[in-house]
Amino acid sequence: MKITPLAADSFGARSMATIVETPDVSVLIDPSVRLGPFRYDLRPHPTEKARQKELWQAIRTASKDADVLTVSHYHYDHHNPDVPSIFRGKIAFLKDGKFHINRSQRQRAGAFVRAIKKYPKEMQAADGNQMDFGGTELLFSPALPHGYDDQLGYVVMTRIAHGDEVFVHTADVLGPPLKEHLSFLIDAQPTILYVDGPMTHMPDNYPEEHTKRSLSHLQRILRTTNVRTLILDHHILRDRGWRARMEPVFQAGKEHDVAVLTAAEFAGQPISQLEANRDVLYGFEPRP
Ligand SMILES: [Zn+2]
Ligand SMILES: [Zn+2]
Repeated sequence: MKITPLAADSFGARSMATIVETPDVSVLIDPSVRLGPFRYDLRPHPTEKARQKELWQAIRTASKDADVLTVSHYHYDHHNPDVPSIFRGKIAFLKDGKFHINRSQRQRAGAFVRAIKKYPKEMQAADGNQMDFGGTELLFSPALPHGYDDQLGYVVMTRIAHGDEVFVHTADVLGPPLKEHLSFLIDAQPTILYVDGPMTHMPDNYPEEHTKRSLSHLQRILRTTNVRTLILDHHILRDRGWRARMEPVFQAGKEHDVAVLTAAEFAGQPISQLEANRDVLYGFEPRP
């Protein structure tokens, strides 16, 4: 199984776009990349805009080789309604747009399905769904809350299994802070797990107790599953101090022989935290 992160916060823009290739099938998860509209009251820096363009090109190129395109939920860093043609001839698994969804994402889901409708050869709701491709099993979790409650709607996690290898992509669970996130992840028995991490850069919207719970859930996964690689990225990489915040997870990784790293490092590239350093990009002193 070959796992290639195509864009991520550690690459310099908001995304968890990943292509997973097995001898049976090639699955592109969440083909989109966006920039945080405001950070430190600043709009995206030209460096970020240039990076976003490059990363979108990489996603677009990879989409040509994919058999399956998936959308975990309808935030714009996970689906791109502007270029529906990437779905041409693909099997599309999309988060259900009618059930377990909040109002804003229901509207976006409707618009998205209308935009891409004529392109895919097959379109299915992802929630709790499953499909076999030869020796590869593609499975989606039921709808799970986007964070510690369902105010931001729901997401589906993606699980791809081939032989002894199991890749799980959480999408935006913001942690994982909830027991229901944890139980899906433990049942899924990942060998490679990609999580988005707690939202430590927005303490007003994301109370500390949820960071604590997320850390303890991640430690528990490292302790009790066969996971060998933990990719931490997306929300947690929006915090300049993310390494210190995640120290207990790095420690657990050492104890249980699990590599803990960002998507950029997993892809053999240096970390490029552009949004977290937007103030510095504009020439300001780094804010605390
Ligand atoms: Zn989201
Ligand atoms: Zn996201």
